[in-house]
Amino acid sequence: MKIAVFGCGYVGLATAVGLAEMGNEVIGVDIDEKKLGMLSSGQVPFFEPGIQEMLKHNLAEGRLSFSSDIHSAIQFGELIFSAVGTPPKKNHEADLSAVLNVAESFGRYGSNGKIFVNKSTVPVGTSEKIRETIELFAYQPFDYCVLSNPEFLREGTAMQDFFHPDRIVIGIEPKDLDAKKMMDTLYRPMIEQGVPVQYTDIRSAEVIKYASNSFLATRISFMNELAEFCELAGADIKTVAKGMGLDKRIGTTFLDAGLGFGGSCLPKDLAALIEKGEALGFDFELLKQVQKINQKLPERMINKLKKYVPNLQDATIALWGLSFKPKTDDLREAPSLKLMKRLLKAKARLQVFDPVSMHHAENIFLERPEFFSKITFAGSAHQALQNADALLIVTEWDEFRNPDYAKIKSLMKQPIIIDGRNLLVPKEALESGFIYESFGRNLPGLQSQTQKKRSLKSKQRVTYRSNVKKSQVVLE
Ligand code: NAD
Repeated sequence: MKIAVFGCGYVGLATAVGLAEMGNEVIGVDIDEKKLGMLSSGQVPFFEPGIQEMLKHNLAEGRLSFSSDIHSAIQFGELIFSAVGTPPKKNHEADLSAVLNVAESFGRYGSNGKIFVNKSTVPVGTSEKIRETIELFAYQPFDYCVLSNPEFLREGTAMQDFFHPDRIVIGIEPKDLDAKKMMDTLYRPMIEQGVPVQYTDIRSAEVIKYASNSFLATRISFMNELAEFCELAGADIKTVAKGMGLDKRIGTTFLDAGLGFGGSCLPKDLAALIEKGEALGFDFELLKQVQKINQKLPERMINKLKKYVPNLQDATIALWGLSFKPKTDDLREAPSLKLMKRLLKAKARLQVFDPVSMHHAENIFLERPEFFSKITFAGSAHQALQNADALLIVTEWDEFRNPDYAKIKSLMKQPIIIDGRNLLVPKEALESGFIYESFGRNLPGLQSQTQKKRSLKSKQRVTYRSNVKKSQVVLE
């Protein structure tokens, strides 16, 4: 099949490369000439495991090319995919200008039989706007159809997710039988592996994407609330999550407590769904709370830090991890940025390290020279710890999982770790002489200062109950 993919970012490039790998002829289109130049020479402008090899292979096979020539790309493609960005506007509504720009080009240069496949995440009702735009710009009427094919891949495992998705959702009008046949042919390799395809009406397909991301965000915020509760109740959030996850109705994923969600999707899609609800006269009360809980987490981490470093002015704070999650260099809505800004405003000095996103962070802070001068972008995790008053673990990169405690203790001014991702084994950190704070971890022998005080008070209360046997006492 001949395919044009508009937008060569995380989603568009994975789609273009994946479709070419499946034997299709693909042109990737973007407005960013620099990006197109890099891609044409086999260089990926961002970090995504496994994509570079497949890009080079398909360029060499002649199945994949990149161009900014919109007209030729639309003439070439039987299927025109939109994978352009839909960033949030100031009022949190999704900015549809790039998608409608692709629709405009489709209207101008499209012809009979072409199919517009929308992969960008868009609010319910956008397909109608796409159709209106196509018709507005078409020189003469032609037969086309618009499908909604939301994307669920995750940065860090984009290619794996492309080839082995949990499901394929296609919103389509019942009359568009030829388009359905084309999509069945396109996705045959996945369908033959047993990947379920759900054909739905277009509006439901658009809602499925936002609903899925908002539900995942809800699970994370639920666990973060529970983590705070566990801290007070003396329970361990990881143990609780494991017990919950063994219930098949709940499942094991998205039950990690910590610094919360970031990235280019969850925060923006949650906000856009809330906003769309408001536009329709509906108040998404639950989702507003999910958002609120997530927003307060960086401050929770700062409060934990301030228990041990009360005066942040001129304190040296090390951060391990900047990207919003491991295996990506994406810093969009990353909790690290909020933490860094908050610490810098308190006049702390920062020493940061991330395996892949350092250059992005440097570029972001270059625009704020007053902050930039206070940040050391370290060459390694150990270098970031030189004379540090505390270490904050911000992203759960595997390479931070098993630190050499003796080494890091020798580098730091004070042995203090605030683990924002519950990454370390608490017992090991404590036995190595560190003050260790987590998000909701409570294990025998591991108690936060607050918990210790609470237990002490409980014990004192118990001594007044003269005839209560020790073995019967359960401390609250
Ligand atoms: P991105 O910002 O990485 O890439 C978007 C690309 O589109 C950029 O290269 C930009 O230059 C290009 N572009 C903008 N206007 C264009 C135009 N008129 N014509 C051609 N190219 C144009 O975005 P992304 O992360 O790949 O996300 C794309 C869409 O997919 C968004 O709607 C997003 O919500 C959704 N999505 C993203 C992910 C993810 O993990 N990143 C997952 C699922 C869905």
